[in-house]
Amino acid sequence: MVKSSWTSALPSTVEMVEVGPRDGLQIIQEFVPTEKKIELVDALFASGVRRMEVTSFVHPKFVPQLKDAAEVLAGIKRDGRVCMAMVPNMKGAERAVAAQVDMLDVIVSATESHNRSNVRRSIDESLEGFVPIFNLAKAAGVSVRASLATSFGCPFEGDVPVSQVLSVCQRLQELGVMEIALCDTTGMANPVQVSKVVGACLEEMPALQWVAHFHNTRGAGSANLLAALMEGVSIFDASIAGLGGCPFAPGATGNVPTEDMVHILHEMGIETGIDLPSLIATARLSEEIIGEVLPGQVMKAGRTCDLHPMPPLDS
Ligand code: ZN
Repeated sequence: MVKSSWTSALPSTVEMVEVGPRDGLQIIQEFVPTEKKIELVDALFASGVRRMEVTSFVHPKFVPQLKDAAEVLAGIKRDGRVCMAMVPNMKGAERAVAAQVDMLDVIVSATESHNRSNVRRSIDESLEGFVPIFNLAKAAGVSVRASLATSFGCPFEGDVPVSQVLSVCQRLQELGVMEIALCDTTGMANPVQVSKVVGACLEEMPALQWVAHFHNTRGAGSANLLAALMEGVSIFDASIAGLGGCPFAPGATGNVPTEDMVHILHEMGIETGIDLPSLIATARLSEEIIGEVLPGQVMKAGRTCDLHPMPPLDS
């Protein structure tokens, strides 16, 4: 008797959305020169990345690192790739549209306390604030996605009920969002919970495009990726070399490293369209640019297919 295999649930291709230049760089204190940011974005696109969150149009007073958002967008080689930017409000959305981004990313949390601490607004106020942003995007022919922070756990409230995630997502869908990224903002997810949350979202809102955004804060990134893949998610955010950390746990690793995710996907026979050796070189480039050792593991250990000469045997 042939046992049915869980591997039959895996997709044959996955889209990786690079978020390092935004999610990763935003918490780096020392200003990274604009030309270095452009070099990094160009190298990522040259490695085969098709969509990237290039920057955020947040007020320069709050995130001085990304004050050169428009200059970065004007300086990179776009060649038809999708440039996404995070926008915290209408002013940011106007700047992003003027900089000709292809996709806006708005953020709201699944929990009130995290939303208040992140954007100083209630969830209702955030959703109301999205209406003019979505209207602007529609008029400008720019698509929109929403990132739902704390989808798998909140550092202030702990467990987040699935019903709460569903309710915010349903309201986002009513407002016209076509894509939602479920974000494990502080790395609290586990694979069983990912199956429950992601499974419920896909079942309740099958018309939406779903993205998973995992953090490796507690080492569960690739286990959670596998759980989401098996629920039918085929778009994942990741950050080159694992750039970025967790604001609530100093020293903790942040986003899952793009090249580590691409490596494991390719090993499992899942295509990403990305050239892995080139991506690994880009991970090393990001270490050079930041001037620090970054969490990515494959850039240190090498690919599993990189074989080593057998040591001479003693006679
Ligand atoms: Zn993140």
